[in-house]
Amino acid sequence: MEFGWSAEDEAYRDELRAFIQDALPAGWRGYDQTDRPAYKAAAERFSRGMAERGWLTQNWPTEYGGGDCSAWRQCILTEELTPIGEPRGSQYMNVNWIGPAFMRFGTEEQKRYYLRRIAAGDIFWCQGFSEPDAGSDLASLRTRAVRVGDEYVVNGSKIWTSHVGVADYCFLLARTGEPDSRARGITVLIVPMDHPGFTRRNIASLAGDESHYEMFFDDMRVPVEWRLGEENQGWEVVRWALQYERVGTAQYQRAALQLSDVVGKAQDNGAFEDPEIRSRIGEAWATCRAARLLTYKVYDLREEGSPPTADSNLARVASTDALKGVAQLSRDVLGEEALEHDQAVDVIRNGGLAIAAGATEIQLDRIALDFLGLPRSR
Ligand SMILES: Cc1cc2nc3c(=O)[nH]c(=O)nc-3n(C[C@H](O)[C@H](O)[C@H](O)COP(=O)(O)OP(=O)(O)OC[C@H]3O[C@@H](n4cnc5c(N)ncnc54)[C@H](O)[C@@H]3O)c2cc1C
Repeated sequence: MEFGWSAEDEAYRDELRAFIQDALPAGWRGYDQTDRPAYKAAAERFSRGMAERGWLTQNWPTEYGGGDCSAWRQCILTEELTPIGEPRGSQYMNVNWIGPAFMRFGTEEQKRYYLRRIAAGDIFWCQGFSEPDAGSDLASLRTRAVRVGDEYVVNGSKIWTSHVGVADYCFLLARTGEPDSRARGITVLIVPMDHPGFTRRNIASLAGDESHYEMFFDDMRVPVEWRLGEENQGWEVVRWALQYERVGTAQYQRAALQLSDVVGKAQDNGAFEDPEIRSRIGEAWATCRAARLLTYKVYDLREEGSPPTADSNLARVASTDALKGVAQLSRDVLGEEALEHDQAVDVIRNGGLAIAAGATEIQLDRIALDFLGLPRSR
C-alpha cells in the first residue's frame, strides 16, 4: 500500500500553486459576489486559464476535451482550489458532476454542444432541485413539466438555488409523471437562464447577498431536445450526479486551512495555553485527516471504475463534521472576534455545507441503508 503522491503529481501540484499565485492576489480568500459581472468575469478568466493548460477537465476522456488523466489529478486540483475559496466560481460543478452527467446520459448532440464549452471554461450552471416543500425529500418535488407536442410546459418554483446570479444554464428537475409518482416521475431539463417564463428573486442571507435565490417558472416552454436522459429518468441521473458532487470539493482541506488560522490566533491570544482547547485542536486535526482518507477511498474506487457508492456519503459526513468542529473551535477561541465579518461568514458557511448536497441526517440514512445494509425504519 502506497499513500504517497508520484513525482509527476507533486510536480503538477507545484505548477498549479505557481499558477494560482500568479492569477490571484496574495492571501486571496474568495470573490466578492455582490459585484456579479466582475465576479463572473474573474471566475471565467481563471477557468479559461486552467482550460488553456489542459487542467480544467484533465481527468475527462480526450474525446470530450479532457486529458485522460487519473481522477487523482482532479483531487489535487480541488485540494488547492477549495480551501482558498474556489476561484473557478460555480464552474467547479461543471467538472465535478454536470459534465460527467452529460457523458453518461446525454445525446451525442448534447455531448458535442455542452462538453466542449465546459472543457473550455465558458459556461456557468446552477442546480434547480430544492423546492419549498421538497428539500431532503426531493422525490416529492412539484414543479410540473407537461408534454405538449414537442415541448414541455413548466410551472412551479425552486428555492435555495446557489449561483443563479452568474449562471448561464439551469440543471432543472421537474415532475413529468403523476403527482404521486415520486422518484419514478422526475425528468431533467437543461434550460438557459434567459429563457422566457423564467424569473428569479434573491434571498437575503447571512452568508452573503448573492448566496441563494428562488426561481419561478410560469408556463415556460422547453423543447423536448433540452431534456437530459429519458423522460422520468431524472432520479437516476440525479442520484448518480450527487454522489460525484458530494466529494467534488475538498472541504476537509478547507477545514484544515481554517484550523491552521485558528491555531495561529489561539497562540496569539493565549487560548492555546488551555489544555481543553489544545485537545480540541488535536481532535479537529484528526477529523480533517480522517475525512481526507475517506475521500481518497472514493477517488480510489472511481479509478477502479466502480460506480458511485455510499463511500461518498461517508466522506461527505466526515468532511462536514470537520468543518463544523473547526467552526465551533473558532467561536470558542476567538470569542466575539468570531462575529467579525469574514470569520462569521466562514462559521455560517461551514454549517451550511452540512445541509447542501443533502443534510447530514440524510447522508447518515444512506450510510445505514447502503453501506451497513440496515433495514429501513417505518
Ligand atoms: C449552502 C447551501 C447551498 C444550497 N444550494 C442549493 C442549490 O444550488 N440548489 C438546490 O436545489 N438546493 C440548494 N440548497 C438546498 C439544500 O439542498 C436543502 O436545504 C437540503 O436538501 C435540505 O432541505 P430543506 O432545507 O428543505 O430542509 P428539510 O428537508 O426540511 O430538513 C430540515 C431538517 O430535518 C432533517 N430531516 C429531514 N428529513 C429527515 C429524515 N428523513 N430523517 C432524519 N432527518 C431528517 C434534515 O436533516 C434537516 O436537519 C442549498 C442549501 C444550502 C445550505
